[in-house]
Amino acid sequence: MYPPSHAESATSHSQARKPTLAAKLVLAPVNRYYFDHNATTPVTAEVLEAMLPAFTQNFGNASSIHHFGQAARQHLDTARKQVADMLGASPDEIVFTSGGTESDNLAILGASAGGHLLTTTIEHPAVLQTAGRLAGWSCVNVGATGVVDPDDIRRALKPNTSLISVMHANNELGTIQPIEEIVKLGIPVHSDGVQALGKIPVNVRDLGVALYSISGHKIGAPKGIGALYVRKGAKLNARQFGGRHERERRAGTENVPGAIALARAMQSHFETEHLRDRLEQAVLKSIPDTHVNAAGSPRIPNTTNIRFDGIDSDALLIALDLKGFAVSSGAACSSGAPEPSHVLLAIGLTREQARSSIRFSLGRGNTIEQVDALVEALAASVAHLRKLSPAYV
Ligand code: PLP
Repeated sequence: MYPPSHAESATSHSQARKPTLAAKLVLAPVNRYYFDHNATTPVTAEVLEAMLPAFTQNFGNASSIHHFGQAARQHLDTARKQVADMLGASPDEIVFTSGGTESDNLAILGASAGGHLLTTTIEHPAVLQTAGRLAGWSCVNVGATGVVDPDDIRRALKPNTSLISVMHANNELGTIQPIEEIVKLGIPVHSDGVQALGKIPVNVRDLGVALYSISGHKIGAPKGIGALYVRKGAKLNARQFGGRHERERRAGTENVPGAIALARAMQSHFETEHLRDRLEQAVLKSIPDTHVNAAGSPRIPNTTNIRFDGIDSDALLIALDLKGFAVSSGAACSSGAPEPSHVLLAIGLTREQARSSIRFSLGRGNTIEQVDALVEALAASVAHLRKLSPAYV
């Protein structure tokens, strides 16, 4: 549970004059529950504890020759080895970056080597927008399952396809993509593993990928740290130039506290499947005309995307937020945009259906009690909004 919002100022304020309805809504003490862990996560206590000394004591520049620099280098090397071990890689295959977006950019721009890039319609904008900068690229669609068919990928290959980029787990639906099968096509594969890490086992050797992107802030490390796995021998051109950091693959003074945090965060895991299943079952049972998008597909255990017929997802999101529940009506970066989610359109939902879907993503700190309270709030909010909705009869 997150701390209640501060309502103390309401007391003195209300003594002076009666609070307006808006002020009551804003100032009423609300317990806040976070169901948006695919957007970002709080830094965990153990991660914070592990990284703090690197700000104040071991603060050296890892490239400096003196004691401070060497101490920082040692911590960086240890973190790199831990990250590598947990991914099934070797340390020199890990390039630390600022996060998932940079890892995806580096992989696609740095490894497509002037050839054609093949990707899917459900990728994160960090992949799709980057692909759009290439001279040659195309997308394979996924169908209602939210899982790409490797045969469709095979059929879409071109003689000059130099890289395939398919995410390991989708951020909106949670669907897991058949990376091992895609690798068998024999073209180097990049996988955006930002939403898979910490939720399902990830071993880059078993997957067989050439490149794999991860991000710290989705798993309890702070924003601003991520990594790209680059298989030994895979050709990668740097996209950022300066010093000879990261074996000349990514220039810039290394973020040692971030690297320590990423390594520490990767060591812990929180079970969410029972909570996700409880949420889905209770919603489907207690609220009519609800559907779990891509329900039958293999999915990461913390994510569910549910459609509430006749509801505008942003209206529901705001109603839930006023009751203290944080959820998402699409990928965080595209929230506020009037366009429905490209992922939901890609699985064949109409624009209206896509705009009536909510993503719930669970994580550390969520409890059975919170899930039950969420279901209760959902039932009340959905019933209320449907009464007002001309689209729902
Ligand atoms: N890829 C996926 C699948 C994501 O979900 C996200 C973040 O939402 C990113 C990439 C971008 O990662 P970052 O926020 O670390 O840049």
